[in-house]
Amino acid sequence: MELVPAKTILGRPKDDSWFGNDYNMNLYRGCCHGCIYCDSRSECYHVDDFDRVRIKRDALAILERELQSKRKKGVVGVGAMSDTYNPFEKEEQATRGALKLLERFGFGVALDTKSSLVLRDVDLIQRIARNASANIKITITTADDALSKVIEPYVCVSSERFRAIRELSAAGIFTGVLFTPMLPYITDTEENVMEMVRLAHENGARFIFPMFGVTLRQNQRDYYYQKLDTHFPGLSRKYRNVYRSNYYCASPRANKLRALFQSECRKYRLLYRMEDIVAAYKKKEPVVQQMKLF
Ligand code: SF4
Repeated sequence: MELVPAKTILGRPKDDSWFGNDYNMNLYRGCCHGCIYCDSRSECYHVDDFDRVRIKRDALAILERELQSKRKKGVVGVGAMSDTYNPFEKEEQATRGALKLLERFGFGVALDTKSSLVLRDVDLIQRIARNASANIKITITTADDALSKVIEPYVCVSSERFRAIRELSAAGIFTGVLFTPMLPYITDTEENVMEMVRLAHENGARFIFPMFGVTLRQNQRDYYYQKLDTHFPGLSRKYRNVYRSNYYCASPRANKLRALFQSECRKYRLLYRMEDIVAAYKKKEPVVQQMKLF
């Protein structure tokens, strides 16, 4: 696998509004899962040839140094810019190595993925959760496996991801669904919303976090429209008419679907508001810090 130079691995988000992340970490550059709506392929992130996965040189050594030098423990978000459980991770084991380091230094983890390969690391996530916070978010956008194969072609289908949630949850790990994005005129149906919430509940998810639209910008929009032309003829013209160059493209049914979604979540007692999810999974003070007080 190609190595790319890296000076740092840990970043600091502008704030902790995304699932309470205190730090961000990306071990890989690029992603080969092929999601047609992927925001990370936008020009503003400067990742050339986005579908080719590369690994950051000396990633674990750099991460170890950084974790050692941090005075503040906290939750490290993983998977914002690329799915850390890409197919190469099976051999590279960079994510597994990073989780070991997080555990050793008393950091928590909040990880986003679409891959059931995360199940390989259940033992480590359980160990992290003993002394810090752990939250595994599996992105699922449709309850329909055939449709997931079209819009997220090179990663496991939705039912396999629900299975991963079931196994993580059975292992006592705080786990839920990232129901983002919702693609206007494709996945924004009442049936999909109801099925998604039901399946989240039945598979042991603690939460389901939604978005009632999709963001589009620059070359990402062009890529998405090309894929619409291939799989949903005529739909890109509709998008152009309705959304023009808008960044956020809300489903025309967003209000109705939001109301339905919330009532379904209440029925199944699933968390769906960011503040409730963060309050439920995040330990206020990692044990490592508490011990320092004494
Ligand atoms: S898994 Fe995430 S990073 Fe990878 S292509 Fe899909 S949306 Fe993009």
